[in-house]
Amino acid sequence: MLGRMSLAVTGTIGIDTVYTPRERREGVLGGSAAYFAAGASFLSPVRLVAVVGDDWPSAHRDALGRFKGICLKGLETRPGSRTFSWGGRYFEDVNQRETLFTEVGVLQEAPPRVPDAYRDTQFVFLGNTHPAVQADFIDQFPQRKLVVCDTMDLWIKTAHGELLSLLKRVDGVVLNDTEAHELTGIRNAVSAARHITTLGPTFAVVKKGEHGAVLVHRDGVAVLPAFPATEDRVIDPTGAGDSFAGGMMGHLARLGRTDFRAIRDALSWGTVVASFTIESFGPERLQALTEAELNERHEQFRSALGVGS
Ligand code: AMP
Repeated sequence: MLGRMSLAVTGTIGIDTVYTPRERREGVLGGSAAYFAAGASFLSPVRLVAVVGDDWPSAHRDALGRFKGICLKGLETRPGSRTFSWGGRYFEDVNQRETLFTEVGVLQEAPPRVPDAYRDTQFVFLGNTHPAVQADFIDQFPQRKLVVCDTMDLWIKTAHGELLSLLKRVDGVVLNDTEAHELTGIRNAVSAARHITTLGPTFAVVKKGEHGAVLVHRDGVAVLPAFPATEDRVIDPTGAGDSFAGGMMGHLARLGRTDFRAIRDALSWGTVVASFTIESFGPERLQALTEAELNERHEQFRSALGVGS
């Protein structure tokens, strides 16, 4: 075992509007990097690289700043720019979501730079943003040992070529089943994940919402169900994917491992972190979460799986 490694996330910080079948919320703290960092912070310190406009509410900065493990040195506020904002609507089947709008705002300007103090980071997660920007971040981490990326419908449709170039340069990919289907044209999650590993990455994780996740790695295949949450606990699934990735990468960074078995075990941490995220709008539930609660639910999950260590 190598021991704890440093972890960084690049991606978006956004202001979300979320419609669920029961409620509508505006001005919610969101973005791929925000959810990732919030989720990872329970397992490993995490360095955040993102940019917001000067319209970003100070309450959101305070909320992120209160997560013990998140370093905000790499969060740039750009005067005169507008923060990225996204709206989405969930259907009665909460695995189904449609994007209502995406206002890229500051994302169409120059991306933020990785601070010098972060350049020694070994574990890097390239959260959702334009794939060309994700690729540019890679070289800014010269000591990287593991680089994992995510992507989303918008980029699969509008930046396909750049996405394929990015995939050649990363070790792993984490995405949901709809995205895996859009990217590969293959509906079966295992086949889609396997196909993705022929495009460059050593492994692909495909998340299937309440149906769990599959991992296809050059050294093996693993499956994991979702945490068995009852319907009343699912308030807003936004950020489940990003915080899943946060829990997974946070666990890998704290172990300092990148092998198949470690990634397989890390999926359970991602699953449990995501199970908290969906219990509220935005990262509110994660804000209230304690490490003890996280560990306790992880134990419950292990016992629900009925497997040993
Ligand atoms: P998830 O539910 O894990 O897929 O992530 C939802 C979060 O991703 C929301 O908080 C959005 O602000 C953010 N988001 C939505 N669309 C994009 C996009 N095209 N690029 C980057 N982040 C996005």
